[in-house]
Amino acid sequence: MPLTRLSCTHCGFWHSWFEGKEPLTLNCVLCSDVRNALPPDGWDYADVGRVARTVTTRWKEVTPGIWGFWCEPRYGLAGTGWLIRRDDGNVAFEGAPFYHDDALEQIDRLGGVRLLSASHPHGYGALWQLQERFHPELVIHREDVRYTKAFRVTTVADDEHEFAPGLTLHHVGGHYEGQCVLHDGPQRALFVGDSLKFDDFDAEGRVHALSCHKGYHYHIPLSRGELRHYRRVFERLPFDRAFTPFEFAPNVTCANALALFDRLIAGTPTTRPQPMESDAHG
Ligand SMILES: [Zn+2]
Ligand SMILES: [Zn+2]
Repeated sequence: MPLTRLSCTHCGFWHSWFEGKEPLTLNCVLCSDVRNALPPDGWDYADVGRVARTVTTRWKEVTPGIWGFWCEPRYGLAGTGWLIRRDDGNVAFEGAPFYHDDALEQIDRLGGVRLLSASHPHGYGALWQLQERFHPELVIHREDVRYTKAFRVTTVADDEHEFAPGLTLHHVGGHYEGQCVLHDGPQRALFVGDSLKFDDFDAEGRVHALSCHKGYHYHIPLSRGELRHYRRVFERLPFDRAFTPFEFAPNVTCANALALFDRLIAGTPTTRPQPMESDAHG
């Protein structure tokens, strides 16, 4: 039976499904999970044509050499896909919910995609579109391969996986079993997945509060052990700016993250945003 792709209109996650068959028995794997809410009006799935009619893809170079792609109006979890331009081949990390043809052409003009990856399933967006267009190596951590039915993983990552010199994926777990962060050493940037959540943005786009969560919607905190593991990984990765699958923070540093982890480990782990210490430098 031929297959097609359907997107859960609540979280945007793309599913592989039988063409022409109503998705009556399809339970979105992300929305069914405790780390997301159930859709308040029941399941609703959109095919490619409906998503294409619903959203426009936008893009912007958010900092020299790093581009963001997102959809308007917001769709699903409202993710942003990042494109890191490199002389040895571009790396795309996380996915926009949908890439219109003009966005794919823009990525082509920027040099295409040599390697594709994501921190965890909340960041997958429409990775399958980038795979179909650019045929990159597609790297996912071994613990999250179970969520990749809508595309094809070509490389399964262990706990540390080098994409290119200075660009390395590190497993942090916690929020998701296979969650990874991507460290760009030369850019002093960390793609943190949902290991950090940014809060209290000012008019210049600078972040003034951070939080951590196992599950955001139900305010489920991480365990102390999970926070200690985040800390052990982060302390080896100097950075001055950070990217979640949704937002860019030009001012969040390694020291800010370590200060947050220490505070949560010393007290009662909570999901409440904690003000950033302004004197913490990377
Ligand atoms: Zn969903
Ligand atoms: Zn997440």
